[in-house]
Amino acid sequence: MKIAILISALVSVALAKVDYTGHQVYRAFPNKLQHEIIKGFGDSVNMDVWSDYRGEGDFIDFRVSPDWKPKIDVLLARNRISHEVFVEDLEVSFANQVDLNAPRLGPADPQFYEKYHSFSEISNWIDEFVSMNSALVGVTNIGKSYEGRDIRSVKVSTGAGRLAFVINCGLHAREWVTPATCMYTIKLLLTSRYGIDDAVTNVMNQVDIYFIPVSNPDGYEYTWTTDRMWRKTRSAANSDCLTKCYGVDPNRNWDNHWNSPGGSSTTCCSDTFRGPAPFSEVEVYSQKQFVMGIPNVRAYIDVHAYSQYWMYPYGWSETPTKDATKLEQVGQDSIDAIRAVHGKIYETGSIANVIYVATGSSADYFYEEGITCSFAAELRDQGRYGFALPEAQILPTGEEAFAGLMVMARAVADGTC
Ligand SMILES: [Zn+2]
Repeated sequence: MKIAILISALVSVALAKVDYTGHQVYRAFPNKLQHEIIKGFGDSVNMDVWSDYRGEGDFIDFRVSPDWKPKIDVLLARNRISHEVFVEDLEVSFANQVDLNAPRLGPADPQFYEKYHSFSEISNWIDEFVSMNSALVGVTNIGKSYEGRDIRSVKVSTGAGRLAFVINCGLHAREWVTPATCMYTIKLLLTSRYGIDDAVTNVMNQVDIYFIPVSNPDGYEYTWTTDRMWRKTRSAANSDCLTKCYGVDPNRNWDNHWNSPGGSSTTCCSDTFRGPAPFSEVEVYSQKQFVMGIPNVRAYIDVHAYSQYWMYPYGWSETPTKDATKLEQVGQDSIDAIRAVHGKIYETGSIANVIYVATGSSADYFYEEGITCSFAAELRDQGRYGFALPEAQILPTGEEAFAGLMVMARAVADGTC
């Protein structure tokens, strides 16, 4: 009987959806010392940092739980740290972001690309889109996730023997605009650019583009069913953590300066947990195997959100790479093209310089493996909505990202990359 009660309690815990009513997002403007105070407090409550502090003059965005809101309010006031409430109530923002009760749209619906979609909806879209465009589009299973979901790549190719460009989306589960952008980019390429826009057609006649629309399927599914704020994988990879925290940050798990000091977390409950070993995450290992198996890959980009950055290696160090001049040029050209679409300003530079030191990242890994034009992007916005970016911004985000991605594809075609 006791066991039955325990099991039913565990099941209900597993099925209950995390409620973010009363959770807020603050933007604070600390100096370095004040930032240390926030960080010290944040570590004690496992604070969810949405956009991290980069140094003097910068800000930090973080989610405030009603449990400790009075404490952080006192701490901010006592230390005279100016701040504003960016998101009043996160649950309301999520409800405004997507109406889960609205009728779900199928892949053929013209409004399909204006909405966020669950993992199964995206899977259906891939099947349908590939079958409708089979002359130019193919799909590959690149592996299974920890929970057994298919990780798939969509390849857009106009012929044999091409150079290759890989675009990865959805590595961090809660960054919903990135799978949406991968899908919209594929759609734009095939239905309104190839054979119509000369510049894009020319590039596509020289470069294969591989997309991985949802590279962390378990995490993504979990954001739909259980916890909208989930970022990591869903593995129980670290035996010390079996009863506590699941998942590994799939962008701290690559075998490049993995676990170097200061660029990831050794704490399994942290959102930047590096994992028990490099490539411990099957999603990360599968992607590595897949990309390294593609001949002639000249460019790679790992698409994230938010903050509006278009960055290149290194993440592990502020030291410039030997290709820094070239990468800066590709980055500049990309953000210029992005700005020309809707006027949005993105920032370029190395990951370590633009944001902060991050170790074990995909961009550093592939750069070191010889893919010189290896990038990491952060799409919209700059924090007003953050991860709760409304659906109305999906298409504009996709349109400007498309322009930046085409700059990289062109750099592959013309031999720059
Ligand atoms: Zn991310």
